[in-house]
Amino acid sequence: MSYLMKFDPEVANAIRQETRRQNETLEMIASENFVSEAVLEAQGCVMTNKYAEGYPGRRYYGGCDFVDVVESLAIERAKKLFGAEHANVQPHAGVQANMAVYFSAIRPGDTILGMNLAHGGHLSHGSSASFSGKLYRVVFYGVDPKTETIDYDEVESLAKVQRPKLIVVGTSAYPRTIDYQRFRTIADGVGALILADIAHIGGLVAAGLHPSPVPLCEFVTMTTHKTLRGPRGGLILCKQPFAQALDTSLFPGMQGGPLMHIIAAKAVALKEALTDEFKTYQDQILKNARTLADALMADGFRLVSGGTDTHLMLVDLTAWDITGKEAQEVLDRTGITVNKNTIPFDKRGAQLTSGIRIGTPALTTRGMKEPEMKKIAGLIACVLKNRHDERRLEEVRREVRSLCGQFPLYAQRLVKDR
Ligand SMILES: *Cc1c(COP(=O)(O)O)cnc(C)c1O
Repeated sequence: MSYLMKFDPEVANAIRQETRRQNETLEMIASENFVSEAVLEAQGCVMTNKYAEGYPGRRYYGGCDFVDVVESLAIERAKKLFGAEHANVQPHAGVQANMAVYFSAIRPGDTILGMNLAHGGHLSHGSSASFSGKLYRVVFYGVDPKTETIDYDEVESLAKVQRPKLIVVGTSAYPRTIDYQRFRTIADGVGALILADIAHIGGLVAAGLHPSPVPLCEFVTMTTHKTLRGPRGGLILCKQPFAQALDTSLFPGMQGGPLMHIIAAKAVALKEALTDEFKTYQDQILKNARTLADALMADGFRLVSGGTDTHLMLVDLTAWDITGKEAQEVLDRTGITVNKNTIPFDKRGAQLTSGIRIGTPALTTRGMKEPEMKKIAGLIACVLKNRHDERRLEEVRREVRSLCGQFPLYAQRLVKDR
């Protein structure tokens, strides 16, 4: 950090404060995680300097020998980890990964059947605010009002009537296991392709703790920075017959030079994901989520769908006379970071919301286990029940600090900066 501190103390100080914030607060945003020092090191390397348009062995620039090594490693590791026929590790982010699939598999105006954002889907699955909702004709499926789980019968009847070219299966705020086999049967019935977007559950799928869509779906996209615990970025897997069109649609279709330093970091994260420690880590994410969910329910909170099979849960605050926005803000003041989230059939809009989304991947990376989850559930309940009591909030703030102190994060970085 010393170069940066000397040349640009404003940026250096903001980075130092962010490191401290991550260390001293409870990060429970379900889409976030903490990468290893090895991943950070690769991400901060000189490969950021290299232009490498094209793919390994087929570049438009000279001097690509070593970036070819890291991209080939990333591709081979991704294929091995997920048992995939083809991998593209160049998407800058999850949305670009989805865009590349759409651009290669369907044409503007074609019909997509995607999951409703308000029921746990993602903007890039056809929301009118996203390019995906502007370029394609989109039909949405959602969850059953009773079970709050995906209504597969509705998916089937919509598919039969609307005849989509592509069915998008993937979620950002859905706590239950997804039945890819059922989607495959539905898609085959109408001749549709499937894009499975496993951005959130990539790590669980890699560890064999959530059924894999890879054998069943033509395309699988993911982010590398959520449960997979790599650098911020995207990744695409596909069946061999779609490989060439997919690669071309990403580059030159919609991106220029790949971020080679990020691809180096993806390779490192994928190597980590192939280890036994990673399986143990993913298993602990699930144990922690179940423990947290049970403890919150014991404290009187209703969870959407009655619990979780994954790394995340949605807390329904309707009965608590507090909006998701207020809950997020008051928790934030005590050092517990979550995000407001609509729940299925939410009567409040996306700005206020009636829910919060909570996930365990980041805290599990710090080494927290079931006893800490029980304790944190108690702290969350205490904050929401006593949100106007400044003294109680101050007590929680102190407890959060002390809990974080027992599970230090990036400790050497903070020492080095002093
Ligand atoms: C997070 C997420 C994305 C988008 O990833 P970005 O890297 O933010 O573009 C796409 N799909 C799903 C299901 C996600 O949860």
